[in-house]
Amino acid sequence: MSKTDYYQLLGVSKDASKEDIKKAYRKLAIKYHPDRNRDDKDAEQKFKEATEAYEVLSDDKKRQIYDQYGFAGLNGMGGGGGAHDYSNVFRDFEDIFSGFGDFSDIFGSFFGGGSRTRRPNSQGGSRGSDLRYDVQIPFEQAVYGTSLELSFAQEQKCEACSGTGAKDNSGRTTCPTCNGVGQVRRSSGFFSMATTCPTCNGEGSVIKNPCTACNGTGTERKNRKLKVTIPPGVDTGRRISLSGQGNAGKNGGSAGDLHIFLQVKPHEYFERDGFDLYAVIPISIVQATIGADVTIKTLDNKNITVKIPAGTQNGKFIRIKNEGVPFGKDTTRKGDLNIKVLVTVPEKIGRKERELLSQLGEMLNDTANPEPIKLSKLR
Ligand SMILES: [Zn+2]
Ligand SMILES: [Zn+2]
Repeated sequence: MSKTDYYQLLGVSKDASKEDIKKAYRKLAIKYHPDRNRDDKDAEQKFKEATEAYEVLSDDKKRQIYDQYGFAGLNGMGGGGGAHDYSNVFRDFEDIFSGFGDFSDIFGSFFGGGSRTRRPNSQGGSRGSDLRYDVQIPFEQAVYGTSLELSFAQEQKCEACSGTGAKDNSGRTTCPTCNGVGQVRRSSGFFSMATTCPTCNGEGSVIKNPCTACNGTGTERKNRKLKVTIPPGVDTGRRISLSGQGNAGKNGGSAGDLHIFLQVKPHEYFERDGFDLYAVIPISIVQATIGADVTIKTLDNKNITVKIPAGTQNGKFIRIKNEGVPFGKDTTRKGDLNIKVLVTVPEKIGRKERELLSQLGEMLNDTANPEPIKLSKLR
């Protein structure tokens, strides 16, 4: 689609002054105001074209690019091409249209919303985004709890402007688009609808002089160190959310949250199933046969005595109550420790042992023709 030259559209010469451009636009905007040209698609189109032309020619940089490269030069900088940025129009709104009725309706419906919708919150401004922090912690720390020193990049309140986004305490001024209401009304026939003001995103005010350190955003990216307490009993996949520890909000908006995703490193000797701990210990055929008291170390390095009953079969579990994972902050309540016994057979034995064992085999009626064990007995 071919486009009409912006100067031609506004009916001004190539060397027109800013004031001339503004006047020309005002004239056209009033003439083609859609409210005065109901159901006239042509007028609506002309209104939009004139607004686009004004947006470009009222901006020194955009105008220079347009003069030099035409429409093509503006593509990708929001002046020509697909997505338009009408910030200049919004900036000059009051100036252009003062005394000409309510034009904000039109801007709300034609140019508002979409690209610049931010979620306002109770304190005004927009809420900061949430941050995700993935961390691997040792098995014991997950079981007994720990404290972590996190370090990460974060959007923080800009120091130069104390987060206001305004330079030298220049503060904010009433939004010219909505006159501080934060909403604009757009009418279509008999209907009138309120939408969030696109200039101030519903805040009702705009920054007069943007802070140069943060370009008016009120935030800057910095490194953050944070000490976090991990409660006992956490496991892989557990998310710890810290409200307000995410990125800072803009224009007085509240900060986002920090979500810490935990991954627990496997342990050399212990496994977990919920709040129960599992470990495997070897016992000898003699201990398994006549029973024994064996001493083992728990996860927290405590020595405990485990009673192996006489006749303990290989693979049997021995449950030790309350030596598992704490249920939470109250560490007196825990899961169980389950010891699986592995009856181990000596791989190398001396002559004497061999003699004694073969005597034992005879006494125990070892047979060379064993009956298979019913599988149901193993379950
Ligand atoms: Zn506004
Ligand atoms: Zn700043």
